Parts: sequence; structure tokens; C-alpha cells
Amino acid sequence: MKLYDMDKQEWRELKPTLHQHWRSTKIFKCAICHVKTNDWVLGGAYWGVGPKLICPGDSYKQHDELERLYKEFVQIDTKIKDYKKVEKPAKNIQVMIRMRLAEKDALSIRIKVLREKFKKLHDVAGNPKRTEYYYPCARIGSEKERLT
Ligand SMILES: [Zn+2]
Repeated sequence: MKLYDMDKQEWRELKPTLHQHWRSTKIFKCAICHVKTNDWVLGGAYWGVGPKLICPGDSYKQHDELERLYKEFVQIDTKIKDYKKVEKPAKNIQVMIRMRLAEKDALSIRIKVLREKFKKLHDVAGNPKRTEYYYPCARIGSEKERLT
């Protein structure tokens, strides 16, 4: 199976038609659900023209729930970092940091449990080597199924 280096724009050799698929030399891991894929598709009007990476997990309702939790996690993490920048923090700021850390712990457990369900959805072909995280841009807009 030929793999295409997306950084070098090798996919252009294919001269793909709309909705044609190909595989990349790199594995892309969704920042939300951690599902890995190297399946690219040429997008059309709905997603915009050009190569698109569609997370296989995004067909499921839990992906939206996971995205909400993930965004909340990132926000709390940013808040903790901001509070820690306060020089000589008063006791109330230390309490806030502890509360946020507890919230972060609770969220990370929920995220971990939800991500377990997505493990079976990896879609990697052609034995690519490197992996990098991406935040999915092309999203499934139609009715989603429940992942069991
Ligand atoms: Zn995903």
C-alpha cells in the first residue's frame, strides 16, 4: 500500500476526485478521543475543498460528550497555571488551586473511562511509523450513533 507524506503534499500525485481516500505516512491521533487514523479523504462543499482527516470516533454521540469534557479539562488546566503565577498567593488562592486540581482529577477519570470505548475504532493501514496529535476540524454533522 502506498502511503502519502502529507507534509510534502504527496497526495497531489493522486489527483484525487471528490471523496477519494488515501493513507498518510503519519498516524494522526485525535486529541479528543485518542483514536488513531491515517485515512484521508478529499472533502467537498460541506467540509470545504481539500484533504480532510475525519476522526472515526466522531460518528458517535460520546465524541461530543468527550469533546465537552476535554475542553473543560483544558480550561481548568489553564486556570490552574494562571493561579500558580500569582506571587505569594494568599490562602484563598491556594484553596482555589486545590479545588481546580480536584476538578481536573475528576474530569481526567471521566475522560479516561470514555476514551476506553473508543479504543476499538483505530483505523490505521499500511504500517506508518510516526504519530502526532491533531484536533479534528472536519466534523460529522448528521445524527450520531451511540458507541457501545
Ligand atoms: Zn476523535
